[in-house]
Amino acid sequence: MVTALYPGSFDPVTVGHVDIVTRAAKQFEKLVVAVYDTPSKDLLFDTDERDQLMKDACRHIPNVEVTRFSGLVVRYAKDIGAGVIVRGLRSGSDFEYEFDMAFMNRRLEPDVDLVCFMTSQDYMFVSASLLKEVAKLGGDITEMVPPNVAQAVYTKFGLPVEEV
Ligand code: ADP
Repeated sequence: MVTALYPGSFDPVTVGHVDIVTRAAKQFEKLVVAVYDTPSKDLLFDTDERDQLMKDACRHIPNVEVTRFSGLVVRYAKDIGAGVIVRGLRSGSDFEYEFDMAFMNRRLEPDVDLVCFMTSQDYMFVSASLLKEVAKLGGDITEMVPPNVAQAVYTKFGLPVEEV
């Protein structure tokens, strides 16, 4: 059985992330989606919240398990028996980042490989960091996130969803 690991900050989960989960879950027997505990970026949601939002968003996909991790992603992959790390690509700049990271990860753990899935064209512009900026200013993010997430984001910024 091939287990794949899709790690990320997921702050919060977007329709782009769910698109990658859906694509990867079709290709691997088991997909572990892992919320990174301590990314080096400012977070809107804590780990419990990001984990719960992701669980709600992926509940309909049977071979997906949502969990969380800290430390090196390749070490976590080894710990759970995942031979593949999944990432999503929107653009050339995503590719550049993943390319560098993949070679570093291979140096650290030669047995774990990277598989990248291209996002749907509809989601190329969807970015968790940008949509938080938009929501903060009262813009409409409802098409960029799963239904449970928009309310959670607006609540963080003190905006009732019906006012947006
Ligand atoms: P990171 O893990 O780098 O902190 P994210 O949590 O935002 O960043 O993203 C996790 C993974 O999902 C990364 O591989 C990223 O490229 C990918 N991703 C982000 N947004 C999208 C999108 N709209 N479509 C497809 N993949 C995406």
